[in-house]
Amino acid sequence: MTIDDTHPLNAQVFWVDQKTCLRPMLAPNLYDVSKRLMRVAKLPLRVFEIGACFRKESEGRSHLREFTMLNLVEWGTPEAERIDRLKTLGDLVLQAAGIQSYRFEREHSAIYGDGLDIVSPEGLELASTSMGPHPLDDAWKITGTWVGIGFGFGLERLLMYREKAQGIHRFSKSIAYLDGARLNIK
Ligand code: ATP
Ligand code: MG
Repeated sequence: MTIDDTHPLNAQVFWVDQKTCLRPMLAPNLYDVSKRLMRVAKLPLRVFEIGACFRKESEGRSHLREFTMLNLVEWGTPEAERIDRLKTLGDLVLQAAGIQSYRFEREHSAIYGDGLDIVSPEGLELASTSMGPHPLDDAWKITGTWVGIGFGFGLERLLMYREKAQGIHRFSKSIAYLDGARLNIK
């Protein structure tokens, strides 16, 4: 995904051995699954995945080292409709999550270039989005227009925001909390 060992983001990856790491994002798998599905499916093709992501973060109030990402992509979106489509898909997910107040903001990503972020009125990032064609598509042997790969929502981040909580940790998968309750109360 263009992040080589000289890039600062490389320091966030949990390496298991020289060739294996815990995945920091779902995008590589979405590319891989999409490439296979495109052999049999017609466009537009829509794929989503919900799964764990791992990043070495400093663990502030809105960051976890293991979090749950919802990532989605739509292949074959007409080029002129991409921004509107990103907004429609963003609205769909946030309404389903019970979140009403947010805005879309232009953002530049190290991996995907220009895209749209979804942020709360206080400036908390709820999701990042991107669109293609993109130079990375070649490496996955995919051509055409798309929206979404890297359209990532952190589900614990959404919960923290919706519940107006001070920190993300009570929403994480952890041995100290289950369903938001502390397990280590004496
Ligand atoms: P941030 O700027 O908040 O660190 P990011 O831009 O590095 O996030 P992305 O790669 O865009 O994160 O990930 C997509 C979404 O996943 C974010 O918008 C956020 O909702 C969520 N997310 C990212 N990192 C974390 C984390 N460490 N803990 C919880 N959720 C996260
Ligand atoms: Mg982001």
